[in-house]
Amino acid sequence: MKKYHITTFGCQMNVHDSEVLAGLLEKSGYSPAASIEEADLILLNTCCVRENAENRLYGNIGNLKSLKEQNPDRIIGVCGCMAQQATVVEKIRETYPHVDLVFGTHNLHELPRMLKQIEAERSQLYEIWDSEGEIYEGLPVKRTEPFRAWVTIMYGCDNFCSYCIVPYVRGRERSRGPEAILTEVKELIASGVKEITLLGQNVNSYGRDLQESNFNFAELLKEISALDIKRIRFQTSHPKDLSDELIQVMADHPQICRHLHLPLQSGSSRILKLMNRHYTKESYLELAEKIKTKIPAIALTTDIIVGFPGETEADFEDTLDLVQKVGYDGAFTFIYSPRPGTPAAQIEDPTPMDVKKARLNRLIELQNRISLQKNRAFVGSLTEVLVEGVSEKNPEVWSGRNTQNKLIHFKPTSKVKPGDLAIVRITEARTFTLEGELL
Ligand code: SF4
Repeated sequence: MKKYHITTFGCQMNVHDSEVLAGLLEKSGYSPAASIEEADLILLNTCCVRENAENRLYGNIGNLKSLKEQNPDRIIGVCGCMAQQATVVEKIRETYPHVDLVFGTHNLHELPRMLKQIEAERSQLYEIWDSEGEIYEGLPVKRTEPFRAWVTIMYGCDNFCSYCIVPYVRGRERSRGPEAILTEVKELIASGVKEITLLGQNVNSYGRDLQESNFNFAELLKEISALDIKRIRFQTSHPKDLSDELIQVMADHPQICRHLHLPLQSGSSRILKLMNRHYTKESYLELAEKIKTKIPAIALTTDIIVGFPGETEADFEDTLDLVQKVGYDGAFTFIYSPRPGTPAAQIEDPTPMDVKKARLNRLIELQNRISLQKNRAFVGSLTEVLVEGVSEKNPEVWSGRNTQNKLIHFKPTSKVKPGDLAIVRITEARTFTLEGELL
C-alpha cells in the first residue's frame, strides 16, 4: 500500500482542505506515512497570506530534493494558495525540478486522477485552474478528531481588502447549499461529533450568492442550532457583515459558543479606508459594544496588522485606543507583509521596519496585559470544557476549551476521556491559558 504525507501551512481552511486531500488519497488506496521519509507521496499544502510563509515553503521544497534523489519514484507535490499564483508556479518550475505535481485551490478534487496520470506518463504535471468552477459535494474527508469537526460553508471572498491576496487565489464567494451543509452536520452528529466549526473566508456573508433563496448565515446558524449539536463555532467574520439578526441568533442559542473572532486590522479610520475594510473606528466600537451588551459572556478576539503603508504614530495610537476600549480576550498581531498584485503593495511605505517592530511590541504588551486581566476574571468560576486530551505543551496535564475558547489545563482523572464535556473549577490565570481542576 502506498503511503502519503501532507504538510499544511496557513489557516483552518487549508487544514480542512488537507483533511479532504487525505480523504481522497485514502479512498484511492493510500495510507498515512509514519514519517515524511517513509512516504511515496509528499504534498505541501501552501499559504500565501504572508511573505514568511512563502519563504518557509521554498525552504521546505528545497529540503525535499534529497528525498526525491533517494527514491525517484516518490511523488512530490505542491498545492494550495501559493500554487494558484503564476509567479510562484514559474519559480517552482525553474528552480525545483524535483517537484512532480503542482495544482491550485480549485481542483484538489482531481488529485486521484492527477496522480494516476503522473504514474502512467512518468512525467511532471502542472495543473492550475484559472476559475473556481462549481462546488464539489460529497468528497471524502479524513477528519483528525472524532469529536470536533470543520465544516466549510463557503469558498472564496469578494471583499478585496487592499492588503489581501485571498480573493485572487481562492476566487469569488460561493456558498454551499444549506441542505448539503445540514446533511453533513447531521452525519457528523451521528458519528459522535460534539463541536463543529463552520468555515469560510467571510462566513457572515454566507448565502449572498444563493440566488434561489434568501437564506443567510443567521438562518443557517438557527437551523444548525435546532439539531442535537453541543457546540457551534464559526470563523471568520467581517465586521461590516455582522448583522443584528446574527447577534440575536447567537444570544438566543447557548450552543453557539460565546466566542467571536472579529478582525479589526487597524483602529485608524484613515487606514481602514486604505485597507478597503468598509467600517470606521467608531462603527467598529459601536458594534463591539452592541455584541457585549447582547451577549455578556462573549469573548472577543481579533487580528491586527501593524505598519500598514503610511501608518503614522497617530494612526497606531488609534489602534491602541481601540484595543483598550474593546478589551479583547486575545489578538493575533502581525507586521504588514506586502503581497505582490494587491493594491496595498503599490502604496508608498516610508515607515522603517524598526519603528514597525517597536509598535508591534507595544501592541503585544498592551494586549497581553488585557488578556491576563480577562483571564483572571475566570479564577474561582466553574466552566465547561470539551476535553481534548494530553496538552501539546505539557504531557503531564490535559487540556480542553470552554465556550469562550479559553485553553484550560487540568490534571486528568479516570472519570474523563477526550471528547467528554466536563466541569472544571478555574484555579489560576495566565496570559494565554487557564489552570483548573476537574470536578
Ligand atoms: S475579508 Fe478581506 S482579509 Fe478576509 S479573506 Fe477577504 S479580502 Fe482577505
